[in-house]
Amino acid sequence: MANKPKTGNEIRQSYIDFFIGKKHHFVRSSSLVPGGDATLLFTNAGMVQFKDVFLGTDQRKYKRATNSQKCMRVAGKHNDLEDVGQDDTHHTFFEMMGNWSFGDYYKKEAISYAWELLTEIWELPKDRLYATVFKDELGQIPTDEEAVEYWAEQPGFSMDRLFYLGRKENFWEMGDTGPCGPCSEIHYDLRPEEGPVTDKAVLDTDRFTEIWNLVFIQYNRKGPDKLDPLPRKHVDTGLGLDRVVAILQNVSSNYRTDLLLPLVEAVQELTGDSDQERDQNFTPYRVIADHARAAAFLIADGVVPGNMGRNYICRMIIRRGYRFGGHVGLHSPFLGRIAELAVDLYQDAYPELKQNRKIILNTITREEEQFQQTLENATLHLEDLLNELKVGETLPGEVAANLYTTFGMPLEITRDIAKERGLAVDQEGFRKAMELHRVNSGAGHAMGDIGGEEVEFYRELLNNLQKDNKLDSGGVLYNPYEELTVQGPILALIKNGKAVETAKEKDQVQIILAKTPFYMESGGQVSDTGTIEGDNWSIVVQDIYQPAAGMIVHKGIVQHGNPKSGDQATAKVDLKRRQDIIRNHTATHLLHAALDKIVGEHARQAGSLVAPDHLRFDFTHNQALTDEQILAVEEEVNRRILEDHPLDIKQKPLQEAIDEGARALFGEKYSDVVRTIKMGDFSYELCGGTHCSRSSEVGLFLITSEGSTAAGIRRIEAVTGSAAYQLVQNRFKEMKTAAKLLSTGPDQLASQVSSLLDLQKKAEKSRDKLLRKLAVIELKTALENLEQVDGINLLTSILEESDLDTMRMIADRFRQEVSKQGIVVLGTVIDGSPRLIAAVTEDLIKEGIKAGDLIKHVAQQVGGGGGGRPNLAEAGGKDSEKLPAALDSVAGWIKEKKNS
Ligand code: ATP
Ligand code: MG
Repeated sequence: MANKPKTGNEIRQSYIDFFIGKKHHFVRSSSLVPGGDATLLFTNAGMVQFKDVFLGTDQRKYKRATNSQKCMRVAGKHNDLEDVGQDDTHHTFFEMMGNWSFGDYYKKEAISYAWELLTEIWELPKDRLYATVFKDELGQIPTDEEAVEYWAEQPGFSMDRLFYLGRKENFWEMGDTGPCGPCSEIHYDLRPEEGPVTDKAVLDTDRFTEIWNLVFIQYNRKGPDKLDPLPRKHVDTGLGLDRVVAILQNVSSNYRTDLLLPLVEAVQELTGDSDQERDQNFTPYRVIADHARAAAFLIADGVVPGNMGRNYICRMIIRRGYRFGGHVGLHSPFLGRIAELAVDLYQDAYPELKQNRKIILNTITREEEQFQQTLENATLHLEDLLNELKVGETLPGEVAANLYTTFGMPLEITRDIAKERGLAVDQEGFRKAMELHRVNSGAGHAMGDIGGEEVEFYRELLNNLQKDNKLDSGGVLYNPYEELTVQGPILALIKNGKAVETAKEKDQVQIILAKTPFYMESGGQVSDTGTIEGDNWSIVVQDIYQPAAGMIVHKGIVQHGNPKSGDQATAKVDLKRRQDIIRNHTATHLLHAALDKIVGEHARQAGSLVAPDHLRFDFTHNQALTDEQILAVEEEVNRRILEDHPLDIKQKPLQEAIDEGARALFGEKYSDVVRTIKMGDFSYELCGGTHCSRSSEVGLFLITSEGSTAAGIRRIEAVTGSAAYQLVQNRFKEMKTAAKLLSTGPDQLASQVSSLLDLQKKAEKSRDKLLRKLAVIELKTALENLEQVDGINLLTSILEESDLDTMRMIADRFRQEVSKQGIVVLGTVIDGSPRLIAAVTEDLIKEGIKAGDLIKHVAQQVGGGGGGRPNLAEAGGKDSEKLPAALDSVAGWIKEKKNS
């Protein structure tokens, strides 16, 4: 290298160039949202996108790779949030540089490459570099003497700067099982003037920063005490870019590098602090710079603020950044502008930032504005609560949860405020309380389940088929894009996890062919189904999947006959079902484009399902679509369908497609060459799915529902083709039947129904009037025949077809007519439940006989409760059968009251 790199961007590039020079293949950073890994909230290390290569379920064309990986360590197993702002070396978002060997070079090269880059290219002083190697404190795993040996070989490395460390620091594990191995860390001495280091504990103090971790993957952990050596050994390294840039730029903090200082200075410009004031109160500056950068990268990867999972983290990061602004006198939205600066600084290395500049600014600002309205109230409220606690006490989790649900105050901020007063928050209690609200701010294990036995079985099968020349090095040929029928011998027949010679009717089997026309579920499109048939047998294929790289497996049930391994077979995709699927897939692209046009460019795909009978599309948007918008989207899609656009499908390099503006899907893994699908100038997406050849094949497109799935995410469901036709036909049928019933034509249906409803209303009104009149007449007769109980005039009656208003009216009339010593209890049944009303005259109230008590006594007997004023009380119940007996009991109750 001619010149020592100076800027952060140059240093990033120099790392990549150095390893390209060592024959490494450059791989783009994968998204912060891990592709196809629901167990991990965010990509937290460079190895996440290569996890399957280590596990053997994925293969790459290259054996050496290098990259700069976007990482977030803010949830789950790796959470550095509490350090961010407190120290100068930990961030929520950071770039991890890496070099990788997949079964190629090992410790010798890994260590010497690292040493060469650090000391020759970057010219770091050799006497300030320290290395650690693994030595098991339990004495079960061998000490990594091999690494020690290679360190000793490095020119200018002195062995008194090498230390042995145990499992916590120097044995790296992916999870409870799976690939693992010892690692060797490289630390940099920030204060060499303090003299030689004799105690390894000093490495863990602020005199040192850890810059690079070289992991040597050589074991497969099968259980707590079981480590098997791997057939192939791998190298996985991670170097924190910000830390190295700080060292090379000779500054005391990551926040003073040219990657973060511009953000800090922009904040300073807003606050008007002098340099001295800023440095004395540096924590808020650090937090704001870090969180603004993190928010920009999150939003560029499609993670918008919301209430759950990743979206919660985005919300929390923005709100926390905003609140720290308050510590330096900023009380109106400002974080968006700081994030824009991060876009400026990083956009060449990460073009997704450039593409999303406006969305980033708008999203952050909107989120700040929302929080601004409640922050003050929330803080005052929280301070009141904290005032009641003594130092050392803990704020209950439900209280913190309540602060979030009422004021939108994230737990992390509540914790910050409590901590500033020496108090703690019950975080476990918070999670429990939030579970009710289905808000989840953390994630499970860093790594998901590992394939296990099935993977091993299919890898071995693949090897054997390759040895016998039945499959070539690429494994099963996957081509769902051309012929939907292929022929060839059954290469393997599997039953209950074992290869078998033959199978019989109703057996559940797996079938391997040399090539397959079946589409395998991906990008939301479901797998094909169909048949595999031989001379005297047939198998119904229900699913197709890939348990190991190169092994594509059909899963099905023997319909009839006895298929045998080696039999000639014809695999046939269910054509009708496939056609329904492709119509829905092409319609999904049209829908995406229509939303972009009508709802706005922030409405981006957040998930989708392409099935034969319908399609489902989730997208980022904050509120329900209006009826007009839904109609406009539907119209737009149908217009594009009728315009009969051809689908232009091409393979091209990922970078080229992205530069041309093709839309990528978040959470999808893309290889270096991608398939792009274009219609006109309005739809351009990366997509591996199967499609119509022209938009008109979609037929009709109808939206069947619009709703929300999570905060900030809307969902549209729709049908196309024959399902849309079916829907229209059913609706027509209903309409025709209804029109016939109304003796009118379908076109007059609405006006007919509306005049019918008018008629009905009128009829109800006059019926009510009549019922009331009737009730008055009945009351008159009843009053002449009142029951006498201990001198009291009692009326109890069950009214048929009555309502509460009528009952109240009768009760009132009763009290007017029987002004002294009168009690009335009325019951009726409304919608299957008993309802009661009781009234007593004023003179009786003085004697202690109250309507409220009486109604309680009666209501209890019909399984209900109620109450009211002493003169008038109402109640409801459950058991209308018991109504007559309950009313009969009134006389007894009165006697008891009178005589007590
Ligand atoms: P530390 O002990 O400093 O937290 P770590 O052991 O967690 O580091 P690794 O998981 O080995 O780090 O990650 C590899 C490299 O990534 C580290 O050597 C460091 O340079 C960098 N790194 C790790 N965490 C962060 C972070 N939160 N911010 C910036 N860089 C980091
Ligand atoms: Mg760490």
